[in-house]
Amino acid sequence: MAKKNLVIVESPAKANTIKKILGRNYEVTASYGHIRDLPKTKMGIDIENNFTPSYSTIKGKGEITKNLRAMAKKSDKIYLAADPDREGEAIAWHVAHILKLDPKEKNRIEFNEITKNAIREAVKNPRTIDQNRVDAQQARRLLDRIVGYSISPYLWQLISSNTSAGRVQSVSLKLICDLENEIKAFIPQKYWEVSGDFSNNIDLNLYKSGDDRGIKMWDEEKMEELKKSLETYPTFEVVSTEIAKKTKNPPLPLKTSTLQQLASSYLGFSASKTMRVAQSLYEGLKIDGAQKGLITYMRTDSTRISEEAKGQAKEFIIDKYGEKYIGKKKQKKTDDKKKIQDAHEAVRPTYIDLEPDNVEEYLNSDQYRMYKLIWERFIISQLAPMEYDQFTLISGYDKYQFRGIVNKVTFDGYYKIFKEEDEIKTADFPSIKEGDKLELEKLNIKADETKPPKRLSESSLIRKLEADGIGRPSTYASIIETLKKREYVEFMGKLFVPTKLGYDVEKILNKYFPRILGVEFTSSMENALDSIEEGAVKWTDVLDEFYIDFKKALENFDKEVEKITNRRIESDVPCPVDGCTGKMLLKTGRFGKYLECEHFETCSGRIPLKTVEIDEQELEDGHIFINEIVQKRERIKRGIPTDIVIKGVRYNLKKGRFGEYLESENYDSSKGKIVRDE
Ligand SMILES: [Zn+2]
Repeated sequence: MAKKNLVIVESPAKANTIKKILGRNYEVTASYGHIRDLPKTKMGIDIENNFTPSYSTIKGKGEITKNLRAMAKKSDKIYLAADPDREGEAIAWHVAHILKLDPKEKNRIEFNEITKNAIREAVKNPRTIDQNRVDAQQARRLLDRIVGYSISPYLWQLISSNTSAGRVQSVSLKLICDLENEIKAFIPQKYWEVSGDFSNNIDLNLYKSGDDRGIKMWDEEKMEELKKSLETYPTFEVVSTEIAKKTKNPPLPLKTSTLQQLASSYLGFSASKTMRVAQSLYEGLKIDGAQKGLITYMRTDSTRISEEAKGQAKEFIIDKYGEKYIGKKKQKKTDDKKKIQDAHEAVRPTYIDLEPDNVEEYLNSDQYRMYKLIWERFIISQLAPMEYDQFTLISGYDKYQFRGIVNKVTFDGYYKIFKEEDEIKTADFPSIKEGDKLELEKLNIKADETKPPKRLSESSLIRKLEADGIGRPSTYASIIETLKKREYVEFMGKLFVPTKLGYDVEKILNKYFPRILGVEFTSSMENALDSIEEGAVKWTDVLDEFYIDFKKALENFDKEVEKITNRRIESDVPCPVDGCTGKMLLKTGRFGKYLECEHFETCSGRIPLKTVEIDEQELEDGHIFINEIVQKRERIKRGIPTDIVIKGVRYNLKKGRFGEYLESENYDSSKGKIVRDE
């Protein structure tokens, strides 16, 4: 029997689609994501030794690894077909490692969409694994690991064991906390909006009053002066009229961040749900009997569209709307300064002729709505710009000028199917010219005040992370998930508010790691990772440079934490040991807060405090008052005293999971219980 070709991808759904495309000469199997990673129980990085990571097979992936090896043995040629980004490159690299493949072998294939053409083309052009890309992924993985594993144990001591510090997640938390502080400190400022209704049915807004510009007046005295002057309803003269030709470009094709933002505002999807649903469309679904990948790869920061896809869109648009609706103008290359890996593409439909309504019956409702969003946005992005004339009229009296703008669409372009998001007001132009007189018929003065900045939603947080250069297409969703999972944030409506826990964590991190967990540094690290991928710097050099700063901050943090945890905090709880008059002191250990007798060297008095709330002010003052709560809890724990006394020891009645039982009042784990029968 002829040996087969083996294609290894991450997921069974993707494997299924590719198998259908490549046919019987190819075996396609899945690694189910990563198969090797840093160990869970320890740092797993030899920092002294040039940051050597010790990867091991992920728990539960043993069978999969065995299976991959067995299949590889039976195959002539192996193709590593994980997703086209750093994470995918690293998955391919780890798979190559466990299969002991030659690093010089051309076995890595890459494609942005799972379609016949793309897959066949990819199989024809395998390449070697891109070690720079792998190294960029390793650098990120190790950076995150070093920060998380180094700082988190301190947070457990200082706050509680369900906290953790993540590199990028902590910066995001800082953004949310900073904004909340800004909102709390906000002082509203009064202003007045001034407009006028003029003869000929013309409404104009205040444009100039003396040296001040704009519709808003900030000075009450000046506002009163304007009121006095214009309440006589004087005649204005038209100072200028102007007609300008303008165009409005359609929105750019989607990339991960804009897809997440749109899906959030139009479909109410969280960032992680967006990625999940998009992934199922990318990996392929059964459409009318055939397995089809409906969209291109969803993790991308590129807005580029391939020439083929542009051509398909062009045909579709000509067919449906006519020649003049084709977007002729070259799109501005990109909306950000970052270098874009040119192999990457925007998120777009792979089969333009599969219109959303034609595939609706094969998709679930989430998939359908997301596909419709992606499909329509792609067509819109390829349509011609909207063209309009803009008429501007300025009229003046004394030192006051009022202005009005009217737009008239001359060619609808992409407005033909889309305008809701950025609609401009349109109307006919008034027939009026310079020098004409306009009577002020009504003066409108609306008092208002400035509002505090708006809290961030998922959508606006992603926009901010992207603008600040923090995070990447592959990380936005997981950053937000972690903040939620750790309970560092809660929601007010759909907006983020930091929790007390979130504030506590942020306060500590910001105090001891202001630079390393700050916006600027995090953004510069993202750039450094890009440079590793480009082959411009060595990944271990980036880690080295980072670690010099980090180590200093960590050592200082260690000293401070020791000071904090060694601080004497007295409670009003008496030592429970008979005859001891020692004071019980507050301590924090691996399992949370507890009380310990001040004579701990000779006395065993110790009370765990797990759920007891401690007042923050009392904590600060060094004297906490919790005796009442502690005694009440101890009473419940001790049970009800009975008259059963055996060998001079009294037994108490207690209630447990399996019913009531008796327990020696001297009970500890070394002595047994007497189980009561009835
Ligand atoms: Zn004691």
